[in-house]
Order: sequence, then structure tokens, then C-alpha cells
Amino acid sequence: MCARAGDVSLAGAVGRLPSPLVETVDDRLAARGVRLLLKRDDLIHPDIPGNKWRKLGPNLARARQLGQHTVLTFGGAYSNHVRALAAAGSLLGLRTVGVIRGEEHRPLNPVLRFAADAGMRLTYLDRASYRAVRAGTGAAVLAGLTAEFGPFHLLPEGGSNTLGVRGCAGLPAELDQDFDVLCCSCGTGGTLAGLAAGLAPGRRALGVTVLRGAAFLDADVARLQQAAFGVNSGNWTLTHDFHAGGYARTTPELTRFLADFHDRHGLALDAVYEGKLLHGLFSLVAAGAFAPGETLVAVVNALADGPPARVAG
Ligand SMILES: *Cc1c(COP(=O)(O)O)cnc(C)c1O
Repeated sequence: MCARAGDVSLAGAVGRLPSPLVETVDDRLAARGVRLLLKRDDLIHPDIPGNKWRKLGPNLARARQLGQHTVLTFGGAYSNHVRALAAAGSLLGLRTVGVIRGEEHRPLNPVLRFAADAGMRLTYLDRASYRAVRAGTGAAVLAGLTAEFGPFHLLPEGGSNTLGVRGCAGLPAELDQDFDVLCCSCGTGGTLAGLAAGLAPGRRALGVTVLRGAAFLDADVARLQQAAFGVNSGNWTLTHDFHAGGYARTTPELTRFLADFHDRHGLALDAVYEGKLLHGLFSLVAAGAFAPGETLVAVVNALADGPPARVAG
């Protein structure tokens, strides 16, 4: 079977593309003359949502072209990318291996339980070895993994390689309403790199980082764009002010924002990524960071599993 390069349809999985673009009407935005549209990429596929679909599509097409039957990737114990690859592998009949940072914990958390149930083989790497692979100096580690699992097609953390970034660059063409700023949350920065590259002239992209101390992301996004497109599009910026203490951390303010957003709009934003994105955008709007008359598009890659937690008082 031969898929087109850049194809986002995963055999056996029907994704909803283009995903819907819906306005969020909110008096806090209206007071500043700013409009907000949500790009509901969470609705693309229940188990392969958002940027994970956009990145995995071209990567798994490439794996098939190369005749590879096993795809191996890396991630933390709560990695949405690992979970999505497990689901895609089971739909496509590809074997998958998830290399998880840190030690094994039993019982498996819901993300790894899902992955294992989907047929993914899981293995664990100590943090030093994990860092070595990430830094490109993990040849011995990869050789060990090949000895254990056989030959594999390697996907980096978050699926953020050249094909993944290019997959994300297709999103702006789906936006059929006028807008000024395309906004997303950033883990590896691969999504921002692609989105910004796909923008028409005169528009800009804004990334909200969810990691603490992620100043390196500015260089990473530039490097990913250089590798995928040969040029830095220069139309994007990152804000590092809304990580709420670090990856998967929260603050009472963020928790309150999520509960309030759910009350107002009926959407349970995920607290790790899109909750920080929307909290950041509402904070920036309140601070007058956008000109009256501007329209923002925020990409929602996933929602929370359940209703938001509440802070007493
Ligand atoms: C993976 C993920 C991100 C981060 O995407 P990057 O391309 O790694 O920056 C954002 N939101 C959600 C819901 C994700 O699963």
C-alpha cells in the first residue's frame, strides 16, 4: 500500500477535517474589542486528536512507504503523543513501541494503560539515557532498543520532526474566517513551527509555553522551521509567562479560570496545555496586548477527560 507523502488520512481511521472553527463570545473579550475563535482540532479523532493527528499522518505514511512494520517513539509517562501513536498503530496494523522516560510504575496510569491495551509495547529509560537520545548522542541506547524490539521507524518526542511540522502547516489553510493571530500551546514547539509557516503574509502566530524554564524553545522552533522549510518564517513569538509553575503543574488562578471557562462555555479545557493557552490569552487580552478589532484563533488540540477541578472559596 502506498500513501501520498503528507497524507493525513490514516487507513482505517476517519478524521474529521477540516475541524470546526467556532467563536467564543465572552464579555471579557468584547470589553477589549477582541474576537476569539477556537479551532476545534480536538474533534478530529477521539483517540488521535489535534496536532497528534496532523503530525502522525505524514509520519506513518512515510513509515509504510519505507516498508517499516514497527514504529518506536519516546515520551513522558503522560504523553499524548505516545497514546495517539498506540491508537494509530492499532488502527493501521503497525506495531508500536513506547519508550517512557523514568521508571515503570504499576498499576499503569490511564495513558499507558490505554497504550498497552492498544497493543503498544512499553519500555522504560533512565533520565540520563533519555537525555542522550534527545540530544542525538544515544546511538548505544538505540542499538539496545533495536536488539530488544527489532528494526523500527523512529519518531522523536511529540512527533515533532520535519514531517510532523509540515503536517501542522496545513492547518491555516482550513481557516475560512478572517483573523490576525493564530495561537497554540507549546510543548516541543513543533506545532507552532508548522502553524506559523503555514500562515499567509500579514498574519502572526503566538505560542504559549507550558514548561517552566523553556527559553530553549525559541531556538527549537527556529531550528524545526529551518529543517522543515529551509527558512525561519519570522512571524511568530513565544510567551513564557503562563506555565503555572511547570509541566502539569497548576495554580489556584489557573484552576479557577478553567472552572469558570467551563461554566461560561461548557468546555473542559485540558489543564496541561490548552487551559494554559486560553488562560494566557485571556490574561493578555485583559492587559491590552491585542489591538481592538483584532481576531485571535486558538487551536484546541484536546479537552480534559472530565470536568475541571474547583478551588474552594
Ligand atoms: C502534544 C500537545 C501539545 C504540544 O504540541 P507541541 O507540538 O509539542 O508543541 C499541545 N496540546 C496538546 C493537547 C498536546 O497533546
